[in-house]
This record gives sequence, structure tokens and C-alpha cells, in this order.
Amino acid sequence: MQLLVATRNRDKLRELRALLQELNLDLLSAHDLRELPEIVEDADTIRDNAIKKAVHTAQAARMLTLADDTGLEVDALQGAPGVRSARFAGEQATYYENNKKLLGLLAGVPLEKRTARFRCVVAVADANGLVDCVEGICNGTIVEAERGGGGFGYDPLFIPDGQVKTFAELSPDIKNRISHRAKAMQKAWAVLSRYLREKSR
Ligand code: IMP
Repeated sequence: MQLLVATRNRDKLRELRALLQELNLDLLSAHDLRELPEIVEDADTIRDNAIKKAVHTAQAARMLTLADDTGLEVDALQGAPGVRSARFAGEQATYYENNKKLLGLLAGVPLEKRTARFRCVVAVADANGLVDCVEGICNGTIVEAERGGGGFGYDPLFIPDGQVKTFAELSPDIKNRISHRAKAMQKAWAVLSRYLREKSR
């Protein structure tokens, strides 16, 4: 069966492909299908954005679809950037600009108060609507300067709990074992397996 991953973000797609490797599904992305609608991520929560992306894309493509929406929640900033993580430094902000803004807002905040978490919500939908929605969280700390060349987004600033390196310094294998996305995808895996079992009856 085919699964459409509703994202045009190649970094996210790379991780999702690795995390879905063992499910026997033919993966397509928004790059493979023309004329998919551009979904405006304007919901108030990460969860609602993930559901909106999955449901609208599945309806347009008439295919089983998975969407991931992720946010970084920083305690010293009362949960910001949160649902605004992609556009933190402006509508078309680059990863670097978002990271720079985050570091600026946290200037002078001691390490023990720089606690944060990535929240990843994965929604699965088909042409009939939402199938299920699951969440993965990874707690950690925001460092004082970018470290490492791997990963993407806020990875150079985030040390997951239990590690001494940022996600951008850790290997992709380790990130894919412990990340918010890995945890959400483990649950999504169960959702997809159940869906496929029911469809094959
Ligand atoms: P979205 O889920 O595509 O809306 O991403 C929200 C923001 O969080 C973007 O700026 C991404 O670059 C960033 N982001 C998403 N997933 C990750 C991750 O696994 N590590 C670091 N940053 C991420």
C-alpha cells in the first residue's frame, strides 16, 4: 500500500523515511505528487496543524497520508516558540535566523533554567478523514551557542536529556532512536499496522 508523507521539508522527510523503513509501504512525499494544495499551518496548536495537514492532504490526494508537526517549547519563554517554531524569526525565516533569535531571547539565562522539549505530533488520515493522531516528546536543554553540523532546525541548540551532545552532534541513528519524532513514529507505526490489518480483511 502507498503512504503519502505530507511534507515538503526534505530534512523531515529523510528522518521519516528512516523511521518508516521497516513498514512494508510504498512511501510518497509531497514532492512526488503535483497539484497538492499548499496547507497553511495557521492552527493554534501543533496537534491541530498536524491534523489539518493530514486530513486536507489525504482528501486532495485520496490516499493514506501521514503528517508531522513539530514545535520546540522553551520553559524560560513560557513554551515559545511552540506552534510558531518554523516562523519564529519571521515568515520565511531560515533555521539559522530562528536559532539566532532563540539564543538572543535566552541570553543571560543560566543552563539549569534553559530546559525545553520538542513536541512532535503525527496525524494519519485517509480520504474519509482522520484515522488517529499520536504524540512524542523529547526533553532537553538549550545550549548557549550552535554545536554540530548534523540534523536540522533547532538541533544544534538542543541537548536531549541523558546526552552531552546536541542532536546536531549526535549521529542520525542515535537521534532516530531517542527523538520526539522517533517516539511519535513508534506510536504511528501501531496506528498504521492496525489500519493495514483492517484494510486487508
Ligand atoms: P514544522 O513541523 O515543519 O512546522 O517545523 C517547525 C519548526 O521546528 C521548523 O523550524 C523545523 O525546522 C523545526 N523542527 C522540526 N523538527 C525538528 C527536529 O527534529 N529538530 C530540530 N528542529 C526541528
